[in-house]
Amino acid sequence: PRKKEKLGVALVGLGYYSTDLLAPALQLTEHCELRGIVTGSPEKIPVWQAKYGIKDHNVYNYENMHKVADNDEIDVIYIVLPNALHKKYSVIAANAGKHVWCEKPMAVNAQECREIIEACKKNNVQLTIGYRMQHEPVTQKIISWAKQKPYGNIKTLYAEAGFYHGANDPTHWKINKELGGGAMFDMGVYPLNGVRYATGLEPLSVSAVIENSRPDVIATDETTLFNLEFPDGITAECKTTFAANINTLQVNADNGGYKLQPFQSYRGVAGITSDGKKLEAFKGNQQARQMDDDALAIINGKPPLVAGEEGLKDIKVVDAIFESARQGGKRIT
Ligand code: NDP
Repeated sequence: PRKKEKLGVALVGLGYYSTDLLAPALQLTEHCELRGIVTGSPEKIPVWQAKYGIKDHNVYNYENMHKVADNDEIDVIYIVLPNALHKKYSVIAANAGKHVWCEKPMAVNAQECREIIEACKKNNVQLTIGYRMQHEPVTQKIISWAKQKPYGNIKTLYAEAGFYHGANDPTHWKINKELGGGAMFDMGVYPLNGVRYATGLEPLSVSAVIENSRPDVIATDETTLFNLEFPDGITAECKTTFAANINTLQVNADNGGYKLQPFQSYRGVAGITSDGKKLEAFKGNQQARQMDDDALAIINGKPPLVAGEEGLKDIKVVDAIFESARQGGKRIT
């Protein structure tokens, strides 16, 4: 068959990230474009159709989205739902024969991640996780430094990401356990993924504690402190929270180190090295770059940069973090 010029993407879940970031980014992409929507909110349909010219036959809801199997205009289904719904709708998308892009965190436990990977394998479709930082140029430099070691062997890392969640809406899914809320899933996967990509290593053990200063308003984990032991005696201290605006990834090596602050902001990552070199921020659109990378992988039949296994690796650690916290900070290997 003729190679398609651009892949057609359908966004599932038209909330903040789809509306404010992904749909605008899909106007900038070269290798894919916004062609479909899946939504449970009928009032959003005319707004999206008018804004993005989405055809009637490319509009779905959660009950009929499996019918996308018969729709050649849609190549990729991008899951942008509350975390606890990622598994269900990723599997539906895969079973419809569509490539799956799934937002971070991949799912709410390792078993769910494995089910998504399995469904994509079975249906011979690509699966990629929305870790946009791994597509971002400054971050990619940091990733390459794990091997190049410009400041010598890495010894310790510090990573933290969080924001002040006002909890104005007590029903919001991000502070609801059933829907996969909590700071660890929402922001904690960034420091976790960050110390993994900054070292290029997998942790051997983890210990964690969870603190909650507002149990009356935050019904999930509010602040999680976790530390990881990597091979070669490398250690990482990490923090995530809904109680403060924090965003740092620091790498300390034998002969200096480097720090990104912020390390996962949409508007660009900024960094400095111990010998005063500035790591200039990438000014382009991160989401467009991510989706073009992922579309090209599909078009060229190459493995994606951030495969499902990468999402699973983080969630396995998250499972261990929650287990450690339940056991009062016991080290889990
Ligand atoms: P929102 O709450 O803003 O949007 C989620 C959307 O999911 C809703 O608008 C709704 O869309 C749909 N939905 C379906 N069922 C439910 C339900 N039971 N409760 C609430 N919403 C439901 O969330 P975000 O857009 O902030 O986050 C969505 C996903 O994107 C999360 O996994 C999050 O981690 C990820 N994300 C990733 C970012 C990144 O930088 N990579 C940044 C921000 C978020 P509809 O009305 O159309 O059905």
